[in-house]
Amino acid sequence: MSVLKIENLSASYRKNKVLYDVNFDIQPGSLTGIVGPNGSGKSTLLKVMLELHPKLTGKVKFFNSSLSKTKTRVGYVPQRGSVDWDFPTNALDVVLMGLYGKIGWFKWPARKDKERAMESLSKMGMADYADRQISQLSGGQQQRVFLARALVQDADLYLMDEPLVGVDAATEAAIMATLKELKMAGKTVMVVHHDLLTVEEYFDHVMLLNRTIIKYGKTEEVFTKENVQKAYGGVLRWMKEA
Ligand code: ADP
Repeated sequence: MSVLKIENLSASYRKNKVLYDVNFDIQPGSLTGIVGPNGSGKSTLLKVMLELHPKLTGKVKFFNSSLSKTKTRVGYVPQRGSVDWDFPTNALDVVLMGLYGKIGWFKWPARKDKERAMESLSKMGMADYADRQISQLSGGQQQRVFLARALVQDADLYLMDEPLVGVDAATEAAIMATLKELKMAGKTVMVVHHDLLTVEEYFDHVMLLNRTIIKYGKTEEVFTKENVQKAYGGVLRWMKEA
């Protein structure tokens, strides 16, 4: 069973071609780090796959089907900076939004939905903040709420855009523990990640991206000096020599 298969994908912003000739078939049940320099198209790749930005060419298949038919099976955690945190809503409602794909936009959440949302907040250590306006949460707390929202959705594939940016060490550990749990539960997780030092510790698969796929596969096979330097244009000093 294919979880996410991409063929010949390309995308641009106006005339600036950002992604070209992108092909991959994600290993089901893997925890993949998407790694590449700033501006290499990591966020754009997620957005194009999720139809938040148009593609120029190519095919995107979720579970051998279209996104519209599999939407509830796909969870997305956008970059924290891309969200309007001044929007007047509390943490519990943000998590409940993760369920709306399942309960329908116009239905009032049932008590069991609220219980599930609260459970999910608890799991991320945020139960005490359920009624708190999201604008009043710290960056790390906001990120935990995002994760809680993704968890409550109970998706089979998660796409996350830099969930570890701007969080403290405790939140980073909590998020990584959650991602490992998702993997243990048989879910597939793809995470845009910027810290090369933790790639080997955190991910069993790596996708090296620089506008196209430089290499995708098992971390121990892909995350080599040669491949990383290729992705970063050769300017990177390999940290293991430091
Ligand atoms: P990454 O996530 O790897 O840092 P992005 O996908 O954000 O890379 O960006 C890839 C390229 O596309 C960059 O050159 C960036 O400047 C450009 N880009 C990203 N978003 C936009 C946008 N909304 N409008 C125009 N150009 C954009």
